[in-house]
Amino acid sequence: MTKDEFWQTVLGEIELSLSKANFTTWFKNTSVYNLEGEKLIINVPNIFAKEWLERKYRKIILDSARKFHPELNKVICSIEGKNPIDSAINTAKSIDSVINLKSKDSPSLRKKVNPPKDNQKNINSTLNPRYCFDTFVVGSNNELAFAACKSIAENPGKNYNPLFIYGGVGLGKTHLLQSTGNSILDAFPRFKIRYVGMERFANELLDALQNSKAREFKNEYVKLDVLIIDDVQFLAKKEKTQEEFFHIFETLYQLGKQIILSSDRPPKSIPTLEDRLRSRFEGGMMADITKPDIETRTAIIRKKLQEKNFYLEDEIVQYLVENIYHNVRELEGALNKIIVTFQLKNTQPTLNEIVELINDLISTNREKNLEPKQIISSVADFFEVDKKEITSRSRKKKLIKPRQVAIYLMRKHTKMSFPEIGQTIGGRDHSTVIYACEKIEKEIKENNILQDHLKFIQEKFSDY
Ligand code: ADP
Ligand code: MG
Repeated sequence: MTKDEFWQTVLGEIELSLSKANFTTWFKNTSVYNLEGEKLIINVPNIFAKEWLERKYRKIILDSARKFHPELNKVICSIEGKNPIDSAINTAKSIDSVINLKSKDSPSLRKKVNPPKDNQKNINSTLNPRYCFDTFVVGSNNELAFAACKSIAENPGKNYNPLFIYGGVGLGKTHLLQSTGNSILDAFPRFKIRYVGMERFANELLDALQNSKAREFKNEYVKLDVLIIDDVQFLAKKEKTQEEFFHIFETLYQLGKQIILSSDRPPKSIPTLEDRLRSRFEGGMMADITKPDIETRTAIIRKKLQEKNFYLEDEIVQYLVENIYHNVRELEGALNKIIVTFQLKNTQPTLNEIVELINDLISTNREKNLEPKQIISSVADFFEVDKKEITSRSRKKKLIKPRQVAIYLMRKHTKMSFPEIGQTIGGRDHSTVIYACEKIEKEIKENNILQDHLKFIQEKFSDY
């Protein structure tokens, strides 16, 4: 097997354990530089890929590669064109200056390429100065998107072009896009940057077309250094719009200008998107943002409280993060309502007052009126275990999965709180319940079979 054949085989393995977006983003432009004894050196396109691969994917690479080359013990990523040994030595130093995901408040991140000089800043009404990286809380749900934006902010047009960020509403896409624009403007005050929502872009384009001003419109855009388009899913199916957009995109791209896009779904799920645009988008870097887990929600609440200079008891914070989990916008909405109410009253809220105040803001799911015993029966039958065992203290291994699924479904289909669910399921602690919910949520995303099982179980609820 040549080293290229070896790498293709290893990539085939790796591909099985990653999402398509992640696989394409990180492994598309890799090759083997050297494979000798216990050491594998991989060529990667840039420092960002090197750091990400070594941090996040070292184990997957090693495990997959060992299947074909068992003595392997070490994976080094080398930036193409550089001496791999130098670049290995330099990694340790550069990791924290380029991305510093876990401690994003550390001073190294604050360092700017150029200090902002306000008098030099071009007038840029399209960016909202309210958004910045410092107020963005990084969690496992958004760290890839955040890191990509940070990297772009330091080196626009160089590393990831285009960047395509996708994820549901209220999860921070606009915040990241705007922060990236603001950060670039700070570092490169002379840059022409435009942030625009796709709806507005399309309307303006349509206007220009109708008034025979298409050329002027296009000229304005191709002069840009950075184009940021939010909510690309609103791209109209109109042929003319797509064509003009494609040409603007293509021109900027060829000029090496940075393009950043967001959407509520990946390119392949935007039905109106022409194939040539889709493949352009997919050919760059794609990063998804998912719902924040409970830890991240807690960090977000704490950060916002600090910003707004307001204090809430721990039990209230806990109540909020346990009950509001669809997105950050909802969480922020609840917090704002609390602050407005209690700043006026000039008193500290109690938990009971909060429960009442935000009752209508609590995250709800479709039918919240199922009986827990319906859920437990359906789960027990599906997994062929005794329903009494699911709700017992027994630690038998075969009960772990059914119990987690039952917990997850109770959370989804009843109004029960975490502690109440814990009580029903053998007097377990609420942290066990939260853990089970998150575990299943995560597994569903990665595992189609589990999705089918859950669907099946849920369809049977009404039989009990
Ligand atoms: P989207 O564009 O994805 O719909 P937004 O960027 O408008 O979402 O985010 C909704 C609100 O939540 C904004 O006020 C934003 O500042 C806030 N927000 C979202 N994610 C985070 C985060 N990780 N840290 C801090 N604030 C966040
Ligand atoms: Mg938005």
